[in-house]
Amino acid sequence: MTQRARIENIAVSAYRFPTPHPEADGTLQWDATTAVVAVVHSGGRCGLGWTYSGTAAAAVIGDNLHSVLRGRDPFDITGAWSAMHQACRNIGSKGLAMQALSAVDIALWDLKARLLDVPVTTLLGQVRERVPVYGSGGFVSSCDAEIAQDVAAWKAAGCKGMKIKIGKDFGGDTAWDVRRAALLRELAGPDVELMVDANGAYSTGQAKRVGNDLRELGLRWFEEPVSSDDKPGLAEVRASITADVAAGEYISDAYDAQAMAPVVSCLQLDTTRCGGYTGFLRAAAVAAAHNLDISGHCAPALHAPVAAAVPHLRHVEWFNDHVRLEPLLVDGSPTVSGGTLDVPSHRPGHGMALAAGAADYRL
Ligand SMILES: [Mg+2]
Repeated sequence: MTQRARIENIAVSAYRFPTPHPEADGTLQWDATTAVVAVVHSGGRCGLGWTYSGTAAAAVIGDNLHSVLRGRDPFDITGAWSAMHQACRNIGSKGLAMQALSAVDIALWDLKARLLDVPVTTLLGQVRERVPVYGSGGFVSSCDAEIAQDVAAWKAAGCKGMKIKIGKDFGGDTAWDVRRAALLRELAGPDVELMVDANGAYSTGQAKRVGNDLRELGLRWFEEPVSSDDKPGLAEVRASITADVAAGEYISDAYDAQAMAPVVSCLQLDTTRCGGYTGFLRAAAVAAAHNLDISGHCAPALHAPVAAAVPHLRHVEWFNDHVRLEPLLVDGSPTVSGGTLDVPSHRPGHGMALAAGAADYRL
């Protein structure tokens, strides 16, 4: 029996993609998105993963994860995940550290599939041929004409759901928020699922009033009506409105999923934050035990294969910032048509490789 290859090296790099102009939701402003990339080498192959985070995540990979990965069996992803998690105990294993771990975990799945010369869907399972997406953007910093451009792009892609940001200035002008949602309904037409995201901008009372005001527009999805840290507040809003309450984009692990599941109508998970494909599947199982659908948060290129593996998936977020930058970062990112994302099931790994042009954005 020949000796199996070992993990030889993990290369880390970071890329900054400026937005066309400053963007904002209800509680944050930004002018760029940073992708931290991990490339794991073994046996003449390499696996690629990334997270949307800060450059500090690159330092975590180099300082805390690299040493426990080198020399490991690349097929033992569960063992590598546990070793990485343990290595971050004293710096805090959630948040930033879990974003770093997520990038590496995705790279490990890609590497294992490439070593076996199979698509990553062969390893993860595949219960659907294509993954439904909803259009997402509509920043509070956008003018009405930009919202119209967003909606036109989502219509052209066949999206059946469309989501905009509300809660402008920490909920300082709810009348503006309601008018913006009405504009979305007017532009999108009567058949599109209307979705809004307040990014935790409201108080519980505000969120209940806005949720009820948006009822006549047929609001289907109210994301982070209050802070995701406020579980009783989420539960109170959910009990008071007809739209589904969604949250979960900051979930780091199965414990977080377990805490969030009882207070939402649909659990959001972000594979670049919740432990990569390994963590995503674990948290999805927690949601299943609460009879909840899950929805993939952002990062559509990375969600495509793992979203195809989860039976109780509702959709994945086709988020403007990431839709714009993913083809700049990688070659082979999946495309959308008919409101669905194609799943990379005919190429080894997840089918993506760093684009040569990404060097222009490297930090
Ligand atoms: Mg959100």
